[in-house]
Amino acid sequence: MTASATDQRAYNFSAGPAVLPVPVLEEVRDELMCLPGAQSSLLEMSHRDKVFVDILHDAENSIRSLLGISDQYSVMFLQGGAALQFSMIPANLLRDSGKRAAYIQTGTWGKKAIAEAKKEGEVDIVYNAADSNFNHVPAAGDYQVADDAAYLYFCNNETIQGVQFQSEPECPQSVPLVCDASSDFLHRPLDINKYGILYACAQKNAGPAGVTVVVMRRDLLDVGSDSLPGYLNYKNHAEADSEWNTPPTFAIWVLGKVAKWLQNDIGGLAAMEKLNREKAALLYNAIDNSGGFYTGHAKADCRSLMNATFNLPNDDLQAAFLADAAKNNLISLKGHRSVGGIRASIYNAMPLQGAQALASFMTDFASKNA
Ligand SMILES: *Cc1c(COP(=O)(O)O)cnc(C)c1O
Repeated sequence: MTASATDQRAYNFSAGPAVLPVPVLEEVRDELMCLPGAQSSLLEMSHRDKVFVDILHDAENSIRSLLGISDQYSVMFLQGGAALQFSMIPANLLRDSGKRAAYIQTGTWGKKAIAEAKKEGEVDIVYNAADSNFNHVPAAGDYQVADDAAYLYFCNNETIQGVQFQSEPECPQSVPLVCDASSDFLHRPLDINKYGILYACAQKNAGPAGVTVVVMRRDLLDVGSDSLPGYLNYKNHAEADSEWNTPPTFAIWVLGKVAKWLQNDIGGLAAMEKLNREKAALLYNAIDNSGGFYTGHAKADCRSLMNATFNLPNDDLQAAFLADAAKNNLISLKGHRSVGGIRASIYNAMPLQGAQALASFMTDFASKNA
């Protein structure tokens, strides 16, 4: 008998697009040809069809319920990835504002966001971890933000370096806090009321590529100028319920299923966080107990629950590690070209067994090669 498609799947540690929950993929497979009761595939359906509009509202409501998002916030489903948010945020909140924007730079994605913001206005990099090769995040008191800054921007989890804020950075009450949560969206409960904007492309931790979720305090919707290109103005999307133009219907459909899986199968974000901590501890213990064979990139108190980054003693051992891992059904572990080494992404959908399998492989590989 040949193995089923599900059985052929390895444990996939890709940084993104990344692993999705198996029950979600199975549901998508079963419903792709014809959405139950709809007489057509979702792929063939108008985005204004009530069936799809209900799917969109369902996805929104699931996200609202998971994160406890009140009516004071708009939830939008946009295209253009996280990268377009690098531009849309300053185009709406900084351009012609007479203000300066504050940025915390703790890795590659923050750096790219800063480069785009500089095209729109004046930027202060209030904290920059570049000198230490982006291995940490600032502590309270390490930086200052002016009370009249347009906003304070940070990236909660730097996907490439594997460095994560453990809680929100300090920010003056008067300044909207703006967060790129692309690679750790929905990985733990958080107090959304601390944020002005929290956004995430879906393809790391929440769904397939093609949709970016933007959670935005409603008073900020009015800040953008009417002279902005229509797509770039948040107000248009909020007022049209994410149907200002055709939204990415497939990606929203799957994102909604992932949110339901988080609610019903996992049991909500507190349960998800517990599981994520358990998975991450397995990998970091394997690093720490290797007698120096593996060296972690991030400082211990800033280690990411989503992307564990580490190095081996030399390039030959690294190549052998990757080849052996693939033979053991552990794939996509190569680190980003800018950091090197190994990166194991253990997003929400990575089962505990996957982290266990990688941790025991690491321990075994170290004992054979140290
Ligand atoms: C992947 C990633 C991005 C870029 O996302 P795109 O959808 O490719 O634009 C931005 N920020 C973070 C933290 C990411 O992980």
